[in-house]
Formats: sequence, structure tokens, C-alpha cells
Amino acid sequence: MVVGQVAYATDLVVVGAGPGGYVAALRGAQLGRKVTLVDRDGAEGVGGVCLRVGCIPSKALIEVADLAARVNDASTFGLKAKLGGVDMAQFQTWKSTVVGGLTDGVRKLLGQAGVEITAGELRLTKPDEAVIHTSDEQAKFVKFKDIILATGSRPIELAGLPFDGKTILDSSDALDLGDLPNTVAVIGAGYIGLEIGIALAKLGSKVTLIEALSGILPTMDRRLVRPVEARLKELGIELHTESRATSFANGALAVETAKGGQAVTVDKVIVAVGRRPNTDDLGLDMIGISPDESGVLKVAADRRLAPHITAIGDITAGPALAHKASAEAVVAAEALSGKQTAFQPAAIPAVVFCDPEVATAGLSAEQAAAEAIDAQTVTFQLAASGRAATLNAHHGFLQLIADRANDAVIGVHIVGPHASELIAEGVLAIELGASLEDVALTIHTHPTLSEQYGEASHLGLGQPIHMSLVSRR
Ligand code: FAD
Repeated sequence: MVVGQVAYATDLVVVGAGPGGYVAALRGAQLGRKVTLVDRDGAEGVGGVCLRVGCIPSKALIEVADLAARVNDASTFGLKAKLGGVDMAQFQTWKSTVVGGLTDGVRKLLGQAGVEITAGELRLTKPDEAVIHTSDEQAKFVKFKDIILATGSRPIELAGLPFDGKTILDSSDALDLGDLPNTVAVIGAGYIGLEIGIALAKLGSKVTLIEALSGILPTMDRRLVRPVEARLKELGIELHTESRATSFANGALAVETAKGGQAVTVDKVIVAVGRRPNTDDLGLDMIGISPDESGVLKVAADRRLAPHITAIGDITAGPALAHKASAEAVVAAEALSGKQTAFQPAAIPAVVFCDPEVATAGLSAEQAAAEAIDAQTVTFQLAASGRAATLNAHHGFLQLIADRANDAVIGVHIVGPHASELIAEGVLAIELGASLEDVALTIHTHPTLSEQYGEASHLGLGQPIHMSLVSRR
């Protein structure tokens, strides 16, 4: 049934309540706009993929898995502790409390800001009109002044392995497991597959990782990946590279490897082979806009697709990460509210919460060379860090890439414990145009992992403290 054929008039519509959409709604409201936030799941959808089934649930699982791994290693430190097992049902209860607390908090902020939340799937019909289809098959028409599209992405399904929520799982199902599988195959060794696979292995599952390309984290520099490969072996994770899973029947996953076909017997299969932007059902054709073949939208610096239409988050080019979506959200809301603004970060950090953690920001040595920048690379090995020794962490490093023309830090790459937190200083250094001397003169607390910044920058200046000049390139 179609109701409300006459469109009701609104000011700023935001589509999608993920970290892109809800931040855009809040910033729009701060700027005095009357904001309507439309999400397929209404108020329940607040937080989007990140808070509800992505960033937060996965980090909750990783935290528990790391704790289990530390208990298993406790005897090394003279601690008599034994892991008695894993109660996944209790983990899910705790995880729901974490997610519920965060999403409730965001809902409260939206309420206080006067943002109206509407449930339904929005589809554009004209450059200033859309239809919202609700779950009870009703349709409501809206006429808006401006719109911000933040509809995010969904997991890609493999033709021979359709998701069934029971045995063939997407990442959301995998983070919702009520029981720990004895055996599990994870297809795709990108960051999502790797994070979930390592966590399940630490909790006690026998994990087989299957990757079509020649190595794990295929888009990352191999030097960053090597310590993670070594840790996969320690955790007993079986890695099949240049291999493709094709189908699943009677508990066996058919895998094509370079050496021929193989059957891997597993209880569950997690497919994490990438995500596709939700741009296909948005009615973009009605306003003459086409995404590229991957579904990605190309936007202007202020995130505009058209004078009154912006797009942000996973549906736009660049890394599909929550912090990128939120940063774009502020730009889009401001641009549509008459401010001169642009999304031009000097660096967008990317973190893989695997073991050890990997974090990168800015240029690699190869990228600097490709941009004809004469850069030096300085690497401080974690083995020389006092704090790392007390954490029993020996594998990893912090690497700075600096432009020789002015010593400015243009890249930071970290492998090791808490790389996800440490990268923040590097991002700030890049964003502020800090030089190696600025970093070297910044006093870092002892004993902390952050001292690696001081050590690496001293090395770059030719005055190394806890290492020899040989480590400089
Ligand atoms: P989303 O969060 O995807 O939200 C889009 C919203 O739009 C959804 O609520 C959807 O229901 C709604 N919607 C879609 N179409 C319509 C429509 N037509 N009408 C109305 N509503 C619609 N990123 C990080 O930065 N760090 C991490 O550690 C991290 N971990 C992750 C772990 C996992 C397992 C996954 C899957 C993702 C992870 N990500 C992480 C990625 C992060 O979740 C996304 O980059 C982020 O959620 C994108 O935000 P968004 O606002 O673009 O869209």
C-alpha cells in the first residue's frame, strides 16, 4: 500500500545511522538544521555496522580471546592459572551489554539534538525527493532541502557458499556465535577474516584460513605482515594461500589449491571476502548518478555528488573504516549548511587488530618513491624496548618514513602490542607536519611503547640511543 502520495517537506535527511550517518545527523543538528535520520532498522539501526555487528563486537571478542591466550601463557611468568573453558553464551551477554550501552548513548545524543529517527528504506526519486519503504510495505514520500547518503556496505557472498546463518556465516553471524565451533574455516585473510580467525583460534577452535591471493592482508606491506604470519603458526592456524573455497557439503569444504582439490572438514565456514557498498537500491539512476563497477561513489572534496546531495562512509572511495566515515560526516553536514570545507586528511590510519597488531598511516617507502619523494626509512625494533620486554613481546617494530627535504614525518608503520593506540601519535605528527626533530624532542614516558617514536626519530637524525646507526636506510 502507498500512503502519503503528497511528499512531506523536510530540511536535512540523513540516510543510514552508522558512524557516518549518526555523526552527520548530530553535526547537522548542531548547525541548526532540522534533521531526519532514516535507517532501515529505525532506532534499532543506530550505530550501523560498526557499533552493532562490526568494530565493537569484534574488538570485544578479540579482548576476550587475548585474555584467554594470556592465561594459557601464564606459566611463563610464574603464574599458576588454567583456562577452564569458554562460555560463549556469557560472552554474548556481555557483548550485548557493551553494544547496547553504546547504541543507547548515541540514541540519547540524537534525541537531545532533536534528530527525528524514521524507520524504512529510502530510495531517491528526484534530486530533492525520495520514497521511504517501511517494513509493513507502506511508502512515504519526502521532499528535502539536502540529503546525506551514508548507507554503508554489506558482506559479499560467494556463489557456491550462500550465507545460511547456521553453517555458512558472514562476519555478523561469526560474532554472534552461541557456541565455540571445534573446527572452523575462514575464507578471506583480509583484516576481518584475520581478526575473527585469530580470536577463535585463541579461544580454542581449530582454524583453517583460506586466501585466494599469495598472502594474508594482501594490501599491506609484506614487512608488516611477517610477524603476523609467524604468530599464525604459533597459534596452530592452518593457512592455505592461492586457494579458493568453492562449495560445502556434508561437513566438508571443497578447496581448490595450486596442488589440486582438497576437502577441509569443518563445523562452520566464515566467509569474509570483502564488502559491497549499498548503492544499488538507492535510486541513484533517478538522479543521473552511477557508482563504479564496485558500487563505489566518486564524490567532490566536500563530499558532494550534486548541489544538495552528499555521500560519505563505505559507499565512497577510500578505506571502508568507521573513523573515515565519521570524519567525512562532519564535512558533508558542514558543506550542506553553507560552510567552506573539504575532506583532505594528511593520513587516514588503518589498524588490523590481529596478533601482533598492525597499524599504518601515511606513505610507505615504496609509495614515497612512487611520488618522487626522497625519503629515509628508520625502524626501531621492538626487541630493544624495555616496556615490550615486560609484556613478553619481542616481534615487531615501529617505522618512520621521513622526507629528506625537510625531515617531515610522512609515514608511520607499527607492528606490535597496542599498535592501534600508538598510531595516534604518528597520525598527529603527519597531520601537523612534524619533523623528526619535533618527535625526538617530544619527551616520551618511560617505560612505554611510545618511546619507540623517540628512538626511531633519534635514529633518523643520526643520533640513535638504544640502537646502532646500521638500522638506518
Ligand atoms: P554502516 O555502518 O554500514 O551503516 C549504514 C546504515 O545504513 C545501516 O544501519 C543500514 O541498515 C542503513 N541502510 C542501508 N541502506 C539503507 C537505505 N536504503 N535506507 C535506509 N537505511 C539504509 N572499521 C573501523 O574503523 N575499525 C574497526 O575495527 C572495524 N572493524 C570491523 C569489523 C567488522 C566485522 C566489520 C564488518 C566492519 C568493521 N569496520 C571497522 C568497518 C566499519 O564497520 C565500517 O567502515 C563503518 O560501519 C561504515 O560506516 P557507514 O556509516 O558508512 O555505514
